[in-house]
Amino acid sequence: MNRKPMVIANWKMNKLPSEAGTYIETVVPQMVRYPDVQTLLAGPDVLLKAMVEQAAGTTLQIGAENVYWEERGAYTGETSPAALAELGVTHVIVGHSERRHYFRETDEMVNQKILAALRNGLKPIVAIDERMQLVAENDHMHWLITQVVEALKGVRVADIKQISLAYEPTQAIGSGQAMDALTAQRSIALIRATVDDLFGPAVAEQVQILYGGSVKPDNAAALLGQADIDGILVGDAALDPHIYVQLVALAQQAYVTKNGIK
Ligand code: PGA
Repeated sequence: MNRKPMVIANWKMNKLPSEAGTYIETVVPQMVRYPDVQTLLAGPDVLLKAMVEQAAGTTLQIGAENVYWEERGAYTGETSPAALAELGVTHVIVGHSERRHYFRETDEMVNQKILAALRNGLKPIVAIDERMQLVAENDHMHWLITQVVEALKGVRVADIKQISLAYEPTQAIGSGQAMDALTAQRSIALIRATVDDLFGPAVAEQVQILYGGSVKPDNAAALLGQADIDGILVGDAALDPHIYVQLVALAQQAYVTKNGIK
């Protein structure tokens, strides 16, 4: 297995322009120590230009937290995928649980956004929402599979490698209580099996699937150590650049261990 882990800091709506610079300054010099980890900061639109400029020439990539599905038009307040791409943003989170709940994004909207991102050369990080109640009742499989199937409708096999999926149990987000690593592994294995059904085993083996929801340094190693968990999407804990660096170090360690590298 050679899926290089990905560690994403999702800033959400938590940083001001005056705070973004020091964060990136702190993180960037450390990244050379963790060559096998893909590092990405997702920030709000108003910060993206400065973030891209500051991270230019480094391994740190910059992503948006949302995007609209049309390139141009009379859509006041929305963000064009073409504009993000022109700015130098490489990735975009699509269908985050907060977007699905607070902004009523449906599976169909998520799918439209993924297709628009791909058309414009952006790499979608597709968040797959999870309901703990359904997990507790062992009745969440249909819920998960439907989201994956609907999200990936119309995506060409050749484009799947541009996409990462992020499994995010709603009640674990921002609660301080991550899902236990084995339960997360089981759901993520099911997501991978769904990708296998849709696109075949070679694609399923390659696609990166992350876990998100209250990841911290004390639970990251267990999560990243699972066979199907290829990275983490981190909100609160990663607002501190030093903790972000710690999480990247843990991802590097997990990669070395999983691949038996000495
Ligand atoms: P959290 O957020 O780490 O604060 O739980 C994760 C996410 O929403 O992506």
